[in-house]
Amino acid sequence: AKDRGKQCMARYEPDMDLHSIEEARLGAQLRHAIDAGEMRLVYQPIVELPHGRIVGVEALVRWQHPQHGVVSPGLFVPVAERNGLIVPLGEWILREACRQAARWRDLPGTRSLRKISVNVSARQLREPDFAATVAGILHETGLEPHRLVVEVTETAVFDGGAALDSVWALHRLGVSIALDDFGTGHSSLGLLRTCPADILKVDKSFVDEVTAGDQDVIAAALIQIASGLHLQATAEGVETADQAEHLHRLGYRFAQGYHFGRPMAAENITELLQAASKA
Ligand code: C2E
Ligand code: CA
Ligand code: CA
Ligand code: CA
Repeated sequence: AKDRGKQCMARYEPDMDLHSIEEARLGAQLRHAIDAGEMRLVYQPIVELPHGRIVGVEALVRWQHPQHGVVSPGLFVPVAERNGLIVPLGEWILREACRQAARWRDLPGTRSLRKISVNVSARQLREPDFAATVAGILHETGLEPHRLVVEVTETAVFDGGAALDSVWALHRLGVSIALDDFGTGHSSLGLLRTCPADILKVDKSFVDEVTAGDQDVIAAALIQIASGLHLQATAEGVETADQAEHLHRLGYRFAQGYHFGRPMAAENITELLQAASKA
């Protein structure tokens, strides 16, 4: 057992070094990515059940890396959070998303689309002037605050402090607050007392259970909590018609997932909206 421990150590250390070298390289490339125009946003429909009309979109960032192709945010967002680049990157994302939302608002045949959701990291929320930055972007892009949803995770705001202050300041601006991946953090329910949430995004892990016989207890309990507190609930990661139907039966009004649409370019969202408005 001792030998094995040694072997593990011997294998672990070089990995760590490689990892930190790669992280530093990725971080440096990330620094240039925005200016180089390698970042873009895709948009995933958020629909109303049962008909599936698109009432919102979630903006999701993609990095078109010159060598590696499309890099997933699951990979580079944590790097950007650690080296602080998420602050300027997040600002770019917000501006781009608000600009696009204002464009949709002014196009014909897109009226069903009411809101755009943008993910915001704890690191951004902890910037003392974050809400002022958002107010500036709304002003600059001409987007009304009620058309913007800021998605925050429970872990980002549960320790109170500056992050929670920012959430309150956004709420006072009239921006909606969604608790992302709801139910997966440590403080989900307690947080509903201190955080001015408007929307609960029920995590995919609970949605996955929805068709498995009577395994849907958590999804069922969460919609009860949401409606008891007059919050909207959006089911995340809906992949089948069967899940959508069960969620609707449980009382869910909003859903998002591959069943309704993958994240896609803005023009594709426009086409879907305009096609539905003519139908
Ligand atoms: P998230 O905010 O929970 O976003 C949902 C993720 O689930 C997205 O992955 C989306 O493509 C994926 N998804 C949606 N529907 C389905 C489905 O039916 N099945 C499955 N298997 N997956 C589905 P994505 O775009 O790779 O983003 C991953 C995470 O990266 C996001 O999780 C979010 O935490 C972070 N992220 C993405 N864009 C941004 C951003 O602009 N800013 C920040 N701070 N974080 C971002
Ligand atoms: Ca999200
Ligand atoms: Ca989520
Ligand atoms: Ca997630």
